[in-house]
Amino acid sequence: MHCPFCNAIDTKVIDSRLVAEGNQVRRRRECLTCNERFTTYEAAELVMPRIIKQNGEREPFDEEKLHSGLLKALEKRPVSIEKVDEAISRIKNKLRSTGEREIQSRSVGEEVMRELRSLDEVAYVRFASVYKSFKSLDEFTREIDELTRESDARGKQS
Ligand SMILES: [Zn+2]
Repeated sequence: MHCPFCNAIDTKVIDSRLVAEGNQVRRRRECLTCNERFTTYEAAELVMPRIIKQNGEREPFDEEKLHSGLLKALEKRPVSIEKVDEAISRIKNKLRSTGEREIQSRSVGEEVMRELRSLDEVAYVRFASVYKSFKSLDEFTREIDELTRESDARGKQS
């Protein structure tokens, strides 16, 4: 990194710390020629999109959650951990390559189903049944909410 003051090539890192929840490295540098100090920020170019949950909340992409979800679906199935790791990298690449900064949690679920389908039929069915019943549970909850709201509205009118 060239010195922005005198353009010298040799600069020394005098302090380095994680910032922005660990997504950036902030470095204090000192020029070995003119002794000026300056700061640089370093961040990975490919950032995982944030996840939009069904209720609209945003949360950071959680690789651990993805990992444990896959392992749960693949419990006691003849699939090696390498295959699981490969599937996770493919899912992450797919999500990153959308170029979106935020992505629906449903899209992650669909990628997981796609991977499981090619890894193991039983795991796929396991995951799909749980995943789909979650979706209908959500719809069920929404239905109940609407009914409650309607009866509340009627209560206020009378
Ligand atoms: Zn300098």
